[in-house]
Amino acid sequence: MAQSIRKVGIVGAGQMGTGIAHVCSLAGISVVLHDIAPPRLKDALATINGNMSRQVSRQRITEDEKLAALKLITTVESYDGLSDCDLVIEAATEKEDVKRKIFIELCPSLKPAALVASNTSSISITRLASATDRPEKFIGIHFMNPVPLMELVELIRGIATADATFEASKEFVTKLGKTIAVSEDFPAFIVNRILLPMINEAIYTLYEGVGNVVAIDTAMKLGAHHPMGPLELADFIGLDTCLSVMQVLHEGLADSKYRPCPLLVKYVEAGWLGKKAGRGFYDYRGAKPVPTR
Ligand code: NAD
Repeated sequence: MAQSIRKVGIVGAGQMGTGIAHVCSLAGISVVLHDIAPPRLKDALATINGNMSRQVSRQRITEDEKLAALKLITTVESYDGLSDCDLVIEAATEKEDVKRKIFIELCPSLKPAALVASNTSSISITRLASATDRPEKFIGIHFMNPVPLMELVELIRGIATADATFEASKEFVTKLGKTIAVSEDFPAFIVNRILLPMINEAIYTLYEGVGNVVAIDTAMKLGAHHPMGPLELADFIGLDTCLSVMQVLHEGLADSKYRPCPLLVKYVEAGWLGKKAGRGFYDYRGAKPVPTR
């Protein structure tokens, strides 16, 4: 039988870390959340509370289930608080140097049997594993955003990932009620290898003046039946994350077709990172999102 995951640590309490904590706690798994920015921890708990209340009002879960789940989530301000976790999932900013530093500093605090995973959207699992003291216990567990709603999780084995790590991860993801797609360790894996070049192309379409923000999003919503337009989706993912994924594809596959659109670079340089920053291809600061182009 695979190693059982009863307590999960999460490093990075942004959009994804918050969502992962939400689904783990509802599955009866204890969660310890950590972030380099302590105010993020308070925000994360408030977000989870709000999102679970919405699930209660839609009769997806009961009030009792919500209260039981919230009780399973604690927050810590140092890695020592993760010492009894069976699995730690890193969900910090999509930058390889940030993630490597986390693994180097985190591992000495973990129990020897603990598994370590990254929620990276694009970075090589084999390379990240080399920053840990346990490459055989390291794996990519890539959740989709928003985690409570999206059915899929990609599992990515690095070159050294042991079968036991893979089996325990499969069991853990299945317990969360998610469906698994197994991907080889290539830049951006499966979903983002296909999705992000489409988003990047939508930004080129805007950059070249083929259409404005509303025209492009309407075209893809009504013309291709996508539930969200590509620019709206880019804002939702976070434009910094979109740019990082395109850079990983461009560098990792050495093909000019993955060149990040200069307009995407400009938005990121401006700090217009999308919904989480209040502004991206739309401005979210008013009652209704307003296109910025
Ligand atoms: P985010 O910007 O919302 O959150 C990142 C969090 O990491 C922030 O709270 C930040 O304070 C924290 N952080 C940064 N450095 C840290 C450190 N050294 N130690 C601890 N915490 C640190 O980003 P996000 O959208 O939640 O993305 C997180 C990860 O999940 C990235 O690897 C991203 O590629 C991946 N991911 C994102 C999406 C998406 O749609 N946004 C989907 C799947 C996977």
